[in-house]
Amino acid sequence: MKTSKLPRAPRARFALPSEDHGVLDGKARQLLVDHTERLLSPPTAPYAEDAMVRVVRDFVDRVPGFELQTDRYQNLLVTWKGVGRKPAGPGLAYSAHLDHPGFLYRGVRAGKKTASFHGGVPEKYFVGSRVRFYDGTTFEECATGRVQKVSRDKDKLIIAHFDDFVGKAKKGMFGMWDLTPGSLSGTRFRARVCDDLIGAAALLTTLELLAKARHKAPVLGIFTRAEETGFIGCQGLLRSKAIRGKWSVIGLECSPKRSTAKVGEGPVIRVGDAGTIFEPTITHLLQDVAAELRREFPDFVFQRALMDGGRCESSAYNLWDVPAGGLCLALGNYHNCAPNGSIAPEYVDWRDYEGLVALMLGAAKRWRSGAPSGRMRTGLDRVWKRERERLEVSARRIRSASTGRRS
Ligand SMILES: [Zn+2]
Repeated sequence: MKTSKLPRAPRARFALPSEDHGVLDGKARQLLVDHTERLLSPPTAPYAEDAMVRVVRDFVDRVPGFELQTDRYQNLLVTWKGVGRKPAGPGLAYSAHLDHPGFLYRGVRAGKKTASFHGGVPEKYFVGSRVRFYDGTTFEECATGRVQKVSRDKDKLIIAHFDDFVGKAKKGMFGMWDLTPGSLSGTRFRARVCDDLIGAAALLTTLELLAKARHKAPVLGIFTRAEETGFIGCQGLLRSKAIRGKWSVIGLECSPKRSTAKVGEGPVIRVGDAGTIFEPTITHLLQDVAAELRREFPDFVFQRALMDGGRCESSAYNLWDVPAGGLCLALGNYHNCAPNGSIAPEYVDWRDYEGLVALMLGAAKRWRSGAPSGRMRTGLDRVWKRERERLEVSARRIRSASTGRRS
């Protein structure tokens, strides 16, 4: 039986930009391209991260020195065991999520194929946009359709109704906006998913580079599922108490650009999100690492900002008593919503991306047991020593003046 031919998918172009600020060597840069291509080429959606899980599992099979654990929700914990003595306090964990807002096929209603949408995209973007559907187990593309109208189900989920539907509708298939898997031009990288496969690819790259360098301390890579529907995968992991007390976390994200955090001006040390402020000692460590990188590589730039365009898993970690900070890339067209009202690829800057990996490597090298408050405290101790006498003397004066008044 012949299935109808699908319109061709938008092309991909995974490549390195010629511009380079030197924070990663040639091999590390190429490794980043490779992991980006491996993760971004297959499709993903909330509750349909199967292909992503396979990529992470393949990584553990291919690169020696890692241990893979899964929790009951199939969040993935990839541990570099380290070659040195086990540290006394919590180790460093990085966390990224494997999903992106997308469609789950629902079947035919009133003569139209329909799919529910999972993740935050305003209703006004849907009508007229094209969606590509994938087989739930082989991940091969199997259909495309155009959103003709949207409605809401009893849970208030957006239901898309399709026309111009080409291909075979199958139970279990899931859909993504029909956009390029990834394409570089200049230093701008556009993709149907930056948030958060770029975070996940930065994490795989960092883990592989740490393994190559025979990194002494243990480092954990956490790959979560279903972040876009309310940190559901991460909540499952946290409710199991598997990591509390053992790890501190640096959450990795792509987060909507702000006036204080722009695309192309460096990776962002994320001091907080739309909900909470992150663990200050981790933030401070990241600032130290960034300042060091800047001394070594004058072209390296970074930003420090409150990224309040969304909430992220670092909030969840902190709420469950796992100390968490955050790093992110400033993102354009967040959740594929372009300023002109159309659905479009998200975009980041490739130099920011390389800078993010450099920061992650630097933080791993600088990590000491537990949340490292060292330098910030040392600085305060120094001024205390210098200023204390003036504080004492003036306190005596103020004390005696108020005593005199009372008598
Ligand atoms: Zn995200």
